[in-house]
Amino acid sequence: MLEARNAGKPIGDARGEMGMVVNTFRYYAGAVERLLGEQIPVAGGVAFTIREALGVVGLITPWNFPLCIAAWKLGPALAAGNTVVLKPAELTPLTALRFAEIAARAGVPDGVVNVVVGPGRECGQRLVEHPDVAKIAFTGSTEVGRSIAAAAAGTIKRVTLELGGKSANIVFADADLERAATAAPGAVFGNAGQDCCARSRILVERACLDRFMEALEEAVATITVGDPLDEATQMGPLISAQQRDAVGSFVGPDAPVAIRGEAPQDRGFWFPPTVLCPVANDDRAAREEIFGPVAAVIPFADEAEAIALANDTIYGLSGSVWTRDGGKALRVARALESGNLSINSNTSVRVATPVGGFKQSGYGRELGPRALEHYTEVKTIFYNTEA
Ligand code: NAD
Repeated sequence: MLEARNAGKPIGDARGEMGMVVNTFRYYAGAVERLLGEQIPVAGGVAFTIREALGVVGLITPWNFPLCIAAWKLGPALAAGNTVVLKPAELTPLTALRFAEIAARAGVPDGVVNVVVGPGRECGQRLVEHPDVAKIAFTGSTEVGRSIAAAAAGTIKRVTLELGGKSANIVFADADLERAATAAPGAVFGNAGQDCCARSRILVERACLDRFMEALEEAVATITVGDPLDEATQMGPLISAQQRDAVGSFVGPDAPVAIRGEAPQDRGFWFPPTVLCPVANDDRAAREEIFGPVAAVIPFADEAEAIALANDTIYGLSGSVWTRDGGKALRVARALESGNLSINSNTSVRVATPVGGFKQSGYGRELGPRALEHYTEVKTIFYNTEA
C-alpha cells in the first residue's frame, strides 16, 4: 500500500514488487555463501584470492520501482558485508524510510543501513564526491549517470550504472502474432511506461503489419487505466505533472497516432496508452526514452534491417524477438547489442539472472550471482612455502 501511494502504481504491481524485494534478500542471503575465491598455482608457494567488502556503499535509486531497485542493491551490498547509504528519488522516499525502520526493528546494527532523503544535486552528489564512500551503485537516467561517472573519477570510486533504454520488440511475420500482440502492451505500458526495460520501439515485419496492428488495437482496448488502489487497475497515472508534459511532447498534433486507449480525465497525471505508427527510426519518438505509455511502431523488410534498426540507438538494455524459427531467434538475439533479450517473451528481470546494459544503458550488472562481485574487492594473498 505504501509503495502504491509512493509511486502511484497499481496495488497489484506494488504487491508483486514487494514479493521480489523479499526474494532478492533471500537469494543474496544464500548466494553469499557461494562467493568463492580461487586457489591459483604459482611457483614458490600458495596463492589464493579472497573477496572483501568495499566499506561504505552509496546507493542512488530512481522513482519508478522504488524499493524493488533499492533491494537489488541492498541485497548484495549487505550480504557482502558493506554498510550502505541509500538515497531514494526525491519523489518516492517513503518505502526506503520504512525499510530503514524495519531493518532497525529486525536487529540490523546501527549504522549499517542508512537512508538520506533529498534532492539528487545535493544529497546524491555529496555521496558521489565523498572520499569515505567506496562505491556508488546508481540507477537512473543516462544524463545523470554520465555526471556521476565524471564526478566519481575525482576519488576513483567504483561505480555501477543502470541507465535508460529504448528497447526493440521485434515481431517477425512467422511469429504467433496473437501472442506477440497480446504481450506487447504489457511490455511498454506496464508501470505506465516508466520502465527502463520498456520495449518502446515495436519493430514489425511489413508482411504482417496490418494483422499485428489489428491485434494490438484489441489488446490495448483491454487495458484498465485508473485508481492505483483499485485491484482491477493495470495502469495508473504518471509520477508527476512534469513527466506527463514531457510524455505529451512526443504526441503533438503531427504525431501519427494509430491507437489511443482510455484514461481518466479527472485530477491526476493521466496519459492514455498510445501507439504511433508508422515511425521512422530517426524520429524523436524512436530515439529518445519517452518513459511514458507511448510506443513507436517501426516497420521493417527483413532480418538484416530489423537488426540494423534495433541496434541504431545509443541504448542497449533489453529487447524481444518473436518468431517460430528457433535458428533465426538465436541469430537475432546474438546480433542485438543489448544486455537482456527474451525470445517469444517480453520479460527481462529475474532475481537469479543478471540485468544491465550495453552501450549508454550503463555498466555493471545487478541481480544474479555476479552482482555480489560488484560489491567486493579481490585480494590476492601469496604464502611463501620456501621461507
Ligand atoms: P534520475 O536520473 O533523474 O534520478 C535518479 C536518482 O539520481 C534520484 O535519486 C536523483 O535524486 C539522483 N540524482 C539526480 N541528480 C544527481 C546528481 N547530480 N548526483 C547524484 N545523484 C543525482 O532518474 P529518474 O527520473 O528518477 O528515473 C528514471 C530513469 O531511470 C530513466 O532514464 C530510466 O530508464 C532509468 N532506470 C534505469 C533502470 C535500469 O535498471 N537500467 C531501472 C529503472 C530506471
